[in-house]
This record gives sequence, structure tokens and C-alpha cells, in this order.
Amino acid sequence: MAAVTDTTLSAFGAEVAGCTRCRLAEGRTQVVFGSGHPDADLMFVGEAPGFHEDRVGVPFVGQAGKLLERLLAGIGLAREDVYIANVIKCRPPGNRDPQPDEIEACEGHLWRQIELIRPQVVATLGNFATKLLSGRPQGITRVHGQEQETTLGGRRVLLYPLYHPAAALYTPAMLKVLESDFARVPELLGRSLAPVAPPEPLPAEFARDSITAEPAAQLGLF
Ligand code: URA
Repeated sequence: MAAVTDTTLSAFGAEVAGCTRCRLAEGRTQVVFGSGHPDADLMFVGEAPGFHEDRVGVPFVGQAGKLLERLLAGIGLAREDVYIANVIKCRPPGNRDPQPDEIEACEGHLWRQIELIRPQVVATLGNFATKLLSGRPQGITRVHGQEQETTLGGRRVLLYPLYHPAAALYTPAMLKVLESDFARVPELLGRSLAPVAPPEPLPAEFARDSITAEPAAQLGLF
């Protein structure tokens, strides 16, 4: 983790608390900005606050949140170690799906959060976050578990689509997939954090000009 940027992130949170960019401002108890480590290497992006999140002001505090915490514990992390946010910061009435114009109104808040937190890996939970952050229409069933490098908040990050915990709660087969996708998170964090080691200098006898190049296939590399 790099230098702590909490002041800026909390200042931004205070700004967003008064947001009236879309109709959801009218029905909310409060803006659910996000929570966790302000300098997290791993960030999760869900869909939108539900009933409990709207009351408490923290994302993923209901049953889906309990599952997320259990999955995190399985890889040795707690929610305080990561950052958790949503595509939409205010609860849609009756927990309906976010509308395209609401996502458009809210997405700037998410881009800014990513810019300030500077995570290495952004795990998208479910379709809405996956489609928004990948910029692609492919749904979560097709792309879950497939990491991809992309630029978010002006930096290269590893985007890692996962099934939404709320969906996995009711579908045992999906839970199994989520658990096995989740188990790869440490590897992805390691991969993105590992400094690129400079290549060892070759011994003189292997210097470029002294060997006859052979096609890689002949060397048994494929
Ligand atoms: N709680 C959240 O905060 N986000 C979701 O997407 C679902 C539950």
C-alpha cells in the first residue's frame, strides 16, 4: 500500500454526501459512499445499496456482505483491508435495478474513488459493475474469473469480474464458482504487486552474438 490518502477520500465523501445528480437523492436515507482502507490494493465494486446499506450508510452490511466477509476471511483479509464501493451510491426504490441515466449520473463518483484509492486489483461484483468498468457488454456469466488489464482512474489495474455475492447466496453452484474465483485473488494481487525483476545478465558464452538462434518450437517451448 502506498501513502495514505484518507483526507482527500473523506473530503470527497463529504462532497458526495450532498449529491443531487439523479432522482435517487429523493428517496435515500443517505449516500452510501464506500468504506474500507483508503489506500487498499484490492477494491470491490458492487451494484447499489440495499435497504440495510441505506440505513447504515455502509456498503454490503446485509447477508451478501456477510458472505463477502467470509470469502475475504478465506484469503486472510478483513473488510478493513480492502475498499468496498458500489456503482450507484444511493438506494434504488424497492431495490430495483439501477437505470442507465442513474449510472451515468453516478459513475463520476466511482472514477474519482478509484483515482484516489489507486487499487491494484478491482473486483467487480455482478453484471452492473462488470459492464461499467470493463466498458464491454459481456455479462458476468461469460467473464467471471477472467482478469483483464485495463486503465481505470488514469492507472493500469487488473479488473477481476466475480459473481455478485447476493446471487451466489441463493444458488449453490454459483457459490462454488465464486469461491474458486475468489481463491485466485491473492495470486492476482501478488502478480500485480510483484516488481518486475531485471533479467539476470547471461554468461558470456550465451551472449546474443555467440549462439545460433533456433526457432522456439524447435527448442521445445511450445
Ligand atoms: N449491498 C451493496 O452495498 N451493494 C450491492 O450491490 C448489494 C448489496
